Order: sequence, then structure tokens, then C-alpha cells
Amino acid sequence: MKIAIYPGTFDPITNGHLDILDRAVKLFDKVIITIARNPSKDPLFSEEERLDMIREAVKHYSNVEVDSFEGLLVEYARSKKASAIVRGLRAISDFEYELQMALMNRKLDGTVETVFLMPNEKYTYLNSSIVREISRYGGDVSEFVPPMVRVSLDREKRMKKST
Ligand code: ADP
Repeated sequence: MKIAIYPGTFDPITNGHLDILDRAVKLFDKVIITIARNPSKDPLFSEEERLDMIREAVKHYSNVEVDSFEGLLVEYARSKKASAIVRGLRAISDFEYELQMALMNRKLDGTVETVFLMPNEKYTYLNSSIVREISRYGGDVSEFVPPMVRVSLDREKRMKKST
């Protein structure tokens, strides 16, 4: 059984993330999409909210598990018996950081391979922080995120306004 980990912050999950996941599920028997807890980041959505949005967005897949973890990715991958880490590559700007992470992870554990997948070109400019920004200023994000995420972003915006 070939298992892959798809780690990220997913603050919130976008159609770009889902495009990558959709490619990964065709290559692996099981994909674990997992929130990497990062104490140095201050996400808009809580971990529980992000997990709920991911669960809703991936519920039609039978071979996708949703999880979260803290600590070393390669250790987490080992604990899940995963042989691959999936990352999305949008543009050259992603490349340097991703190469560094992939080579460092290989150094830490040579048995876990990082696999890069390219999204449909319409998602190459998309990331979670742009989506948060558009939503904050009242723009329409329905083309970029699953429906539940749009609802959550609208709720978040209303809460901010009322405080
Ligand atoms: P991180 O904070 O680690 O960048 P993200 O949640 O933003 O986490 O992204 C997780 C993974 O998904 C990364 O590999 C990132 O490159 C990829 N990704 C994010 N947005 C897109 C997109 N629009 N198209 C393809 N891959 C994407």
C-alpha cells in the first residue's frame, strides 16, 4: 500500500490545494492531508476550523484521511508508514524553498521521497493569503475556494466588522 502525506497550513484550503490532492489520489493508494502545526504562524482559522473545512472538501474521496501534527514531517510520515510527501509547485518562486525542504527531509530520512505536482495553470497564482486578502476587502472568492470555505470567510469578515 503506497501512502503519501500532503502537508500544509491550509489557512484556508483552496481549489489549488484540491487540484494537487486530486492528482495525488490517482498516484497513491492513500493520501493523508495533514495540517502542520506551526507555532510561529498566526493563522486566521483555528486548527479545528481548518480541519472541518478540509473534511468537508474531501469527503467524496474514499482514500483520503484528514489529520494534523506537530514536529518533524519525516517522523510523522514514518509513523503513518508513508513513503512520499506531496507538495505543489506553482512557480519558480516556490522552487527554492521547496527544494531546500525536500533535500533537508531526504537528509533526515532517505526513505521518504518528496513528490512535486503541478496544478492546472489557472491555479498557479492562487494561494491562501491572497484568498484571505480578497475576502477581507469584500471581493468574491467563490471561484477559488470550496463553498464551505467561502461561507467561513464571510462569517470571519462579519465577526471582524462587529468587533
Ligand atoms: P505552506 O504554508 O507549507 O506553504 P500551504 O497550505 O500554503 O502550506 O500549501 C501546502 C502545499 O500546497 C504546498 O506544497 C504549496 O506549494 C501547495 N499549494 C498551495 N496553493 C497551491 C496552488 N494554488 N496550486 C498548487 N499548489 C499549491
